[in-house]
Amino acid sequence: MAQQMSLTWRNRAACRGVDPDVFYPVSDEETEVAKAICAQCPVREACLEYALANRERDGVWGGATERERRRMIRQRRKTA
Ligand code: SF4
Repeated sequence: MAQQMSLTWRNRAACRGVDPDVFYPVSDEETEVAKAICAQCPVREACLEYALANRERDGVWGGATERERRRMIRQRRKTA
């Protein structure tokens, strides 16, 4: 069921068809293109929550880098 839900939002992803390398940059400085695409994405929140829930380590998900997601997880733990 969870997998079906994830496929549903992925079908509407703004990054469909975009070179995956854009979303797996080698440095934080190279994330701007991916973040710009995410900013226009209709499923950004679902994507970000998926990445947070699944502890996706690499790449830009939901407009957030790995480092930014780690920070979000820490902040959520503090406020939980
Ligand atoms: S938020 Fe970004 S990485 Fe996630 S589906 Fe949308 S465009 Fe792709």
